[in-house]
Amino acid sequence: MKRNKAKEKKIVRERIEILFSEAAKIFSKNKKRSNRYVEIARKLAMKVNLSMPNIFRRQYCKYCYSYLRPGVNSTVRIRDSKIIIYCKECKKYNRMPLSKKSGKK
Ligand SMILES: [Zn+2]
Repeated sequence: MKRNKAKEKKIVRERIEILFSEAAKIFSKNKKRSNRYVEIARKLAMKVNLSMPNIFRRQYCKYCYSYLRPGVNSTVRIRDSKIIIYCKECKKYNRMPLSKKSGKK
């Protein structure tokens, strides 16, 4: 049985995109649901060995996996070309490099 990995990853990426946009939509009404979407997205990525794209990685806490919205349950700061996201849910700092031009969106 052949599996097309590249195609699988592409599909998963699209699904992750959808999950994060759903998480964003539902966040103000149902935070738990948003967190659940993050969880599903992470599991999907893991399943096909896809590293979570940076743009999505900034939207959840890598410690407690809560969906994060700046000004609501997180604060975002930029220092020394790093993004520092403080998660108010678990009170931890997520640090990540400021995107080194990963090119196309
Ligand atoms: Zn957290």
